[in-house]
Amino acid sequence: MNEFDLVILGGGSGGYACALRSAQLGLTVALIEQDKLGGTCLHRGCIPTKALLHAGEIADSTRHASDFGVKAEFQSMDMLGVNAYKDGVVNKLYKGLQGLVKSRNITFVEGHGKLVGKNQIDVNGEIYTGKNIVLATGSYPKTLPGLEIDGVKIMTSEEAMKLDYVPKSVIVLGGGVIGCEFASVWNSFGASVTIIEGLPRLIALEDESSSKQLERAFRKRAINLEVGVKFASATTDKSGVTVTLENGSTHTAEILLVAVGRGPVSANIGYEEQGLTMDRGYVIVDEKCRTNIPGIWAVGDLIPTLQLAHVGFGEGILVAEEIAGLNPRPINYDGVPRVTYSEPEVASVGLTSAQAKERGYDVVELNYDLAGNGKANILKTSGSIKLVSAKNGPVLGVHMVGSRVGELLAEAQLIYNWEATADDVAPLIHAHPTLSEAMGEAHLALAGKPLHAHG
Ligand SMILES: Cc1cc2nc3c(=O)[nH]c(=O)nc-3n(C[C@H](O)[C@H](O)[C@H](O)COP(=O)(O)OP(=O)(O)OC[C@H]3O[C@@H](n4cnc5c(N)ncnc54)[C@H](O)[C@@H]3O)c2cc1C
Repeated sequence: MNEFDLVILGGGSGGYACALRSAQLGLTVALIEQDKLGGTCLHRGCIPTKALLHAGEIADSTRHASDFGVKAEFQSMDMLGVNAYKDGVVNKLYKGLQGLVKSRNITFVEGHGKLVGKNQIDVNGEIYTGKNIVLATGSYPKTLPGLEIDGVKIMTSEEAMKLDYVPKSVIVLGGGVIGCEFASVWNSFGASVTIIEGLPRLIALEDESSSKQLERAFRKRAINLEVGVKFASATTDKSGVTVTLENGSTHTAEILLVAVGRGPVSANIGYEEQGLTMDRGYVIVDEKCRTNIPGIWAVGDLIPTLQLAHVGFGEGILVAEEIAGLNPRPINYDGVPRVTYSEPEVASVGLTSAQAKERGYDVVELNYDLAGNGKANILKTSGSIKLVSAKNGPVLGVHMVGSRVGELLAEAQLIYNWEATADDVAPLIHAHPTLSEAMGEAHLALAGKPLHAHG
């Protein structure tokens, strides 16, 4: 009998995390996946892009080796080698994940599933019944009206990730996280890159100061920016793509990457027919990821929360624990760490200055320049840590720019989520010389006792 405590549709970050945690809690689970276990993050998202970024970092380090007294010469990218390295990382993690799912006695079902009843999913004519149904069908790359993806000259991240050559020139349409990461990769690989962003700044969800610093750093890397001007049309010919903007200007390049956001995968799989409340294709849930239909839950990119793998993990675990009766705390989405893994990285947790002010806080800001940090000088990186704090109250946000600052989020998220004040953090001794010292210094300065800070 195909009857389970949970039937999960979609084996990406949200779905598989829910399956693993449910099984750990003694529940019986079927996990349905039409493609590869691991979903977007493992096969087409987080992991492969970070491997490309790391290859780019090595290319840049080689180019600048003489700055560190090392004799080396950058010759060229070997994309077959880069892809072999990237695919090797993905495949190893994929095997590990398959083993994990198997070891937890989760019934893995390969095939396209459709919600056909309040507790039933049909996979190729076979019905899987669950006391609970968890929808985790993820997202797909969107495009703009009139902009057709041909996968050769006009592509999304899916094709871009698999290129076996370095294009001479690229236009990246969209200056969000994915667009900025690819711009960074291709610049490192030696392509000429232009980013076109309709909003007034890159990575517009981040604090304005982080956007400004990233833009400055990108310009220094010779990445061209067209910010605050909207796309009008694109045409292709033998040599490449010409993009026209609403202000009449044109740009040409060998390829165009369309990185204008991702939309939920929710059409034609029974969601509307079964009466789920939806908005622009997203499934609407409450703070425990419950849909309007009792027993049906939804997690990950399918719901309108931050489109991040670790948010999917968190939501999947939340649902598993709620079903098991553990009454977990709802997720505080402000406390979720966020990283743009470009060079330099941009990392943040908590509120931006603008959000903190909107919410009525009496805001104090502190900017700590990485120029005062020993390790940053050793790495030859620049950037800063900005603290947003309530006056005489807790730290409300941490916003960082610089190489490797994503690794500093571990501490920043504790500070934010445990509602620490500058006085709580200032006495903690940070190892010298590390980038994390900058976190300590920023809090020392905010607490009124700066050590290695001018002014
Ligand atoms: C280029 C790129 C880079 C990214 N980088 C990062 C990063 O660095 N860090 C980060 O946190 N996030 C990153 N993300 C976002 C991250 O990948 C997603 O937030 C995450 O994968 C969402 O997980 P999910 O489970 O909701 O959906 P998905 O991972 O998309 O999984 C959904 C799964 O459901 C399956 N499915 C869909 N419909 C059906 C059906 N009808 N029947 C059966 N199976 C079905 C799909 O095949 C898919 O495997 C990146 C995304 C992209 C595109």
